[in-house]
Amino acid sequence: MNFDLQGIGMTSRRTRLRLIERLRKNGIQNEAVLEAMTEVPRHIFVDEALAHRAYEDTALPIGHSQTISQPYIVARMTELLCSGWKPKRVLEVGAGSGYQTAILARLSTQVYTVERIAPLLEKAKLRFKALKLNNVSAKLSDGRWGWPEQGPFDAIMVTAAPEQTPSELLEQLADGGRLVIPVGGGNEQMLKVYKRQGAEIEESSLEQVRFVPLLGGVVR
Ligand code: SAH
Repeated sequence: MNFDLQGIGMTSRRTRLRLIERLRKNGIQNEAVLEAMTEVPRHIFVDEALAHRAYEDTALPIGHSQTISQPYIVARMTELLCSGWKPKRVLEVGAGSGYQTAILARLSTQVYTVERIAPLLEKAKLRFKALKLNNVSAKLSDGRWGWPEQGPFDAIMVTAAPEQTPSELLEQLADGGRLVIPVGGGNEQMLKVYKRQGAEIEESSLEQVRFVPLLGGVVR
């Protein structure tokens, strides 16, 4: 696969900067997050036919009934994980296109990401390579179990919604670590943040969001 990293017209840096201004207006304040989103070309994370829409603030289909998350949501969740510190080890559940992974890779030391649909994971890996992201480890697996061999993690981000927060993910949270996750069974879910302090886990609910469901098993 050949990626047009530079982009022209609707995929150019200028178009991307307009999206960044919109995110700012909508309340995203973390400069490091905004910079990462300025640097990562979202248009290479969708099919060419949709590339001209990559800098609209909207979710887009990536095949297999999945979507690349809306830029505002990517920014918001990343801000929640990264505000006030730089997490070293990050786990993402649901690599999908790999866009959110690429943003996290710019803001942490090492990102571990899992995806249950093999063809999506393969494409995401090609994009990591094209962007020379050498601090990303990606594997095909059911992320409801986390990635226990690599834990504990300073930050865990789940980009698909379970009905309830998997206890395995809370267990893989390091002391001082944060988990950001959409929770709920219906069409809309609640975005939640969990913070671990020793044995204590503090939970807060932020806003209504819409995610695809967190499903079991892998698809080859
Ligand atoms: N972060 C992605 C969002 C993709 S949508 C992006 O920015 O493109 C959510 C993804 O989670 C889908 O690719 C879906 O296949 C994946 N997913 C759902 N349940 C999963 C599970 N149990 N383990 C791993 N990935 C899962």
